[in-house]
Amino acid sequence: MEIHRDHEGGEEGPWVREGLLVVVSAPSGAGKTTLCKEVVKYIPDIQHSVSYTTRSARPSEVDGSDYHFVSVGTFKNMIDEDAFIEWAVVHGNYYGTSRKELTLLLNSGIDLILDIDSNGAKQIRKTFRNGLFCYILPPSFAALRERLMVRKGDSMDEINRRMKVAGEEVKDYGMYDYLIINDNFDRALAELKSVIVSARIRVERINRAWVENNFFEKRGG
Ligand code: 5GP
Repeated sequence: MEIHRDHEGGEEGPWVREGLLVVVSAPSGAGKTTLCKEVVKYIPDIQHSVSYTTRSARPSEVDGSDYHFVSVGTFKNMIDEDAFIEWAVVHGNYYGTSRKELTLLLNSGIDLILDIDSNGAKQIRKTFRNGLFCYILPPSFAALRERLMVRKGDSMDEINRRMKVAGEEVKDYGMYDYLIINDNFDRALAELKSVIVSARIRVERINRAWVENNFFEKRGG
């Protein structure tokens, strides 16, 4: 099923033009990245926001598409210039969302998924009260460790460190609007799609002028 929303109407149409901001967080290994990538395939009018990071690119990653890979110096200059709407240090590297890119896309009516940690989500929450905040969890803490173990490339130290961070981060789940348990990928994907599609049609996002022009009785008319 194609879930489509027509931006052509602009201010004339039933929905406000400003894009919806979807924030997705999860402990490392919960399957968040795969879920976000799949959601973008099924919901055509949504984009994955490209963050800035100081970590090195993995072999499969493309600069400008997966991340904007920058040096620590460049990142720090950007912090000084207030270029980030949110930023955080995650697993020893800097990550941040460009204020300019985010504003430009949302103002063009494009819905955006931000795959960020809970510290970044807290910062975004202050500005975007109408955003949609989703937290993904694996079925159990033991399952998380198992998933990190089968993921190639991480040392035991790294896995233990990620588990410790996960234990801390999970405590923030209460600030999110939805909790999705990724024990079955298809179901988790269906749930994420559902909450995004529902958030799009919240009454607070309706173009009130459109309702009034079309459905309210005109006085004296
Ligand atoms: P990875 O290096 O595995 O791609 O991401 C590590 C963590 O950084 C993930 O939890 C991811 O959600 C988070 N992250 C990625 N981009 C951003 C960002 O722009 N801001 C914040 N605060 N976290 C981010």
